[in-house]
Amino acid sequence: MKTYTTTLTPAQLSKLEQAYSRVPKRTDIQYTLFQIRGDDYTITAYKSGKVVFQGEEAEFHAQQFGALSKEPSKTESTKLTSKNAINQDFSAGSDEVGTGDYFGPVIVCAAIVKPEAHQKLPLHLIMDSKLIKDDTIREIAPILKETLDYSLLILDNRKYNKVHEVHNMNTIKAMLHNKAYLNLLKKYPMPKLSVVDQFMPESAYFKALSFEKEIYRDLHFETKAESKYLAVACASIIARDAFLNYFDKLSEKYQFDFPKGAGSKVDVLGAEFVRTFGKEALNDVAKTHFANTDKIIESDGYLRYAA
Ligand code: MN
Repeated sequence: MKTYTTTLTPAQLSKLEQAYSRVPKRTDIQYTLFQIRGDDYTITAYKSGKVVFQGEEAEFHAQQFGALSKEPSKTESTKLTSKNAINQDFSAGSDEVGTGDYFGPVIVCAAIVKPEAHQKLPLHLIMDSKLIKDDTIREIAPILKETLDYSLLILDNRKYNKVHEVHNMNTIKAMLHNKAYLNLLKKYPMPKLSVVDQFMPESAYFKALSFEKEIYRDLHFETKAESKYLAVACASIIARDAFLNYFDKLSEKYQFDFPKGAGSKVDVLGAEFVRTFGKEALNDVAKTHFANTDKIIESDGYLRYAA
């Protein structure tokens, strides 16, 4: 197993914790502040400030927090600068939502911003969708959907849980991003610049797709792309809007107030959901491989016993 270690200041530690706030976390391990468990990586922060990144994708995550002293090579940095310098007038971008939420689907959107679209977009409101209030998302998304060419893919929970028996979360994301770009390619001329808000190393992305018949390869991968590229920001707003709408429908169908995220509130309300609708129903509304499922089932059993 790959392991990378670094030491962070308290401020950096809270930044780290914040950055992974949507990923399942444990705080009950001796000598540690917290342990973040993603699909293919574990990040353990010790009270001493030491942070250990482990797992298949440790390198990618360690890099974000300076745990690798890898100097970027000259060719690498030139390549990046020249790519960034490409005009964004005509560009595409993709992003996903729902991957850190126990309840609800995984949604991916890829969108194309054409030069003539710029003047129709509410540019002052478009930014990283995580920084935009839900109401504003709902206001802007219809304008974006009317103005841009886009592909929106919604993987509902039942299908997600089925696919997850075979593929991990990152592979599922890669498959959806790939599909979204292929959908665009079939209908529209593609711009030179297509940016994926990076969630795994580029090589791992293409490796994950190696069994796919068609692969869209003309992509630029960059982390935090939704705050740097207009097309990615637009895609993420459309995806977020679809997620909010899906949540509304789910709440209406079950007459149940589903919480977002994967924290302790999810465990508490999840147990309530199971008491009302039964364990099996989780398969239709939740990503059942999350650690929350065990906590929900455990606490449900306990409450039944106590009652
Ligand atoms: Mn993203």
